Amino acid sequence: MSTLAFQGFGHEREIGPATRLECKICWTVYDPAEGDPVWQIPAGTPFDRLPPHWTCPNCSATREQFMVLGDADGEPTLPDPSPRLDAAFRAAATRMPPGLVNVALDVEAVGFAPWQGHWLGVMVTPWFMNLMLLPRAQSRWQSLRVGDKRTVQFPAGIYEFIGASEPSVGEYQSCSLFSPMDQFENHEAARLVAQLARQALLDPANAEQPEDARDARPAAGDEDEAISKRDFLRGRFAGGGDGD
Ligand SMILES: [Zn+2]
Repeated sequence: MSTLAFQGFGHEREIGPATRLECKICWTVYDPAEGDPVWQIPAGTPFDRLPPHWTCPNCSATREQFMVLGDADGEPTLPDPSPRLDAAFRAAATRMPPGLVNVALDVEAVGFAPWQGHWLGVMVTPWFMNLMLLPRAQSRWQSLRVGDKRTVQFPAGIYEFIGASEPSVGEYQSCSLFSPMDQFENHEAARLVAQLARQALLDPANAEQPEDARDARPAAGDEDEAISKRDFLRGRFAGGGDGD
């Protein structure tokens, strides 16, 4: 089912254990967190586990009259994109000219987790490392045409993302951290920096630029003690990017 998620927005939405639904006759909301006192449904009962005789507690409409609520926390969510990203970029890796890749590195979607209604994570490949946003709650997704840009506000600051799309992944938006990836000695070092980058982005402490700023681009190897999260973002984002 997850592979269909990008082909059927609005149609393939699953009803999860916390999904709230609304009666389209009288707007009564069924919230699994509350259950239904009228029908003596205990809290924690998902909509799809309601007994067959259940009807709207207010107007007796049948369950078919209930629609998934498209906002707030009860919105059904799209699945973690990591497997799709891994597969798509592994396929792309086979087509990359050898000179452009760091052969010590692997393809890995690192740290994808919910953020503000999106999936936020870091894509590590042998030729780039990008922050990536993908839709999680479709109603909160701001679409971009491929190549168009938008800025996204994080606790650590404002970053620019570029719209992209892959047939097997769907729409995504990315912000370049590294390209090429020559400075990473091994995949573990790249993964560590990816994890630090994601953490650093969400840490408001990184929004301020302290006096003792030093030039600290993340290094490969076992330098994790030396790479503070603040150093990471300062090194990358204040030290200058790499054009596109
Ligand atoms: Zn009703």
